[in-house]
Amino acid sequence: MAVPLLDLKRQYAPIRAEIDRAIKQVVDHCGFIMGPELKTFEAAAAEFCHTKHALGVASGSDALLLALRACGVGPGDEVITSAFSFFASAGVISHLGAVPVFVDIELDTYNLDPAKVEAAVTAKTKVIMPIHLFGQCADMDPILNLAATHGLKVVEDAAQAIGSQYKGRSAGSIGDLGCFSFFPTKNLGCAGDGGMVTTNDDALADMIRLLRQHGGRTEYLHEIVGYNSRLDTLQAALLTVKLPHLRGWTEDRRRNAARYNAAFAGLPLKTPVCRDWAYHIYNQYTVACDDRERFLTWLKRHQIGHKIYYPVPFHFQKCFAPLGYAAGQFPQAEKAAATVVSLPIFGEMTAAEQDEVIAVVKAFFA
Ligand SMILES: *Cc1c(COP(=O)(O)O)cnc(C)c1O
Repeated sequence: MAVPLLDLKRQYAPIRAEIDRAIKQVVDHCGFIMGPELKTFEAAAAEFCHTKHALGVASGSDALLLALRACGVGPGDEVITSAFSFFASAGVISHLGAVPVFVDIELDTYNLDPAKVEAAVTAKTKVIMPIHLFGQCADMDPILNLAATHGLKVVEDAAQAIGSQYKGRSAGSIGDLGCFSFFPTKNLGCAGDGGMVTTNDDALADMIRLLRQHGGRTEYLHEIVGYNSRLDTLQAALLTVKLPHLRGWTEDRRRNAARYNAAFAGLPLKTPVCRDWAYHIYNQYTVACDDRERFLTWLKRHQIGHKIYYPVPFHFQKCFAPLGYAAGQFPQAEKAAATVVSLPIFGEMTAAEQDEVIAVVKAFFA
């Protein structure tokens, strides 16, 4: 039996009528930019993330870009982040003329290793940007302490972590700003590109509001040079329908993860490590296998959906060659890139499908 890595059609089927109604309503009033559904969604999302403000923007990448700009990041500044993530996390730093400064990860959680951050701080550092990879929060307390000591801002890349918690605190509410993506494969996805910035700080929220509308509060009056980066009303309307389902979808993912963990125990396969303080939302269920090439061939042969997130650490990317990093500099990130593979974890996967994935994986190691 073929098992897809993700099948979005199954998520939309039971809420299709509601979504069609919400989209029709927007097309009826034609307020496509900054329409009333945006405010409705932002209020619901702020409540969900336990933040004072939630502001829709055009994508997760833009959320990061605007958040860093709001922190005053510009040419010559340095932003510390993990060496192992989706490209946007580092790309946005370069876009602002700033320098991404990479730090190695903890090999068990794939998140920024807080013990290695302090050595990367210089007089030019402005922001520390931990990434809550695969749906588990980075170890935030030591990062927040370090930031406080050095007078730095903390921007959470929570693109993969909506609803995730760290010691009872919600992703996006822990640092100065939280950045989310509604790319279709995220746990809360829209019908295209979309993103959001969260914060408890009124001044930072105001700055994000300015930045997303060309730096103006009033039409044709521009206080700063900003961007065109708004969440479409259509996307906000769709997300408002989906948000009440997110907790249930997350619990389905967590149930599937628990089943995999039990089934894979004892195999020479590294299953996700979940810290005792974490509420993991499993945007991905990522395992690590030393014999990955053969494992991938096996999965392909048995039609088990899979993908490598991420095959190349940042310091090996051609575009970052001018930064002068060397092979071997971030051994944990390099090891992760060489061994990880993500398996189907979507909530709508049937028990029979999950049994198939488990049987195929067990047969590989038999
Ligand atoms: C998806 C993602 C982004 C970018 O979000 P887009 O909406 O695709 O621009 C940034 N960081 C991480 C960790 C992501 O997974």
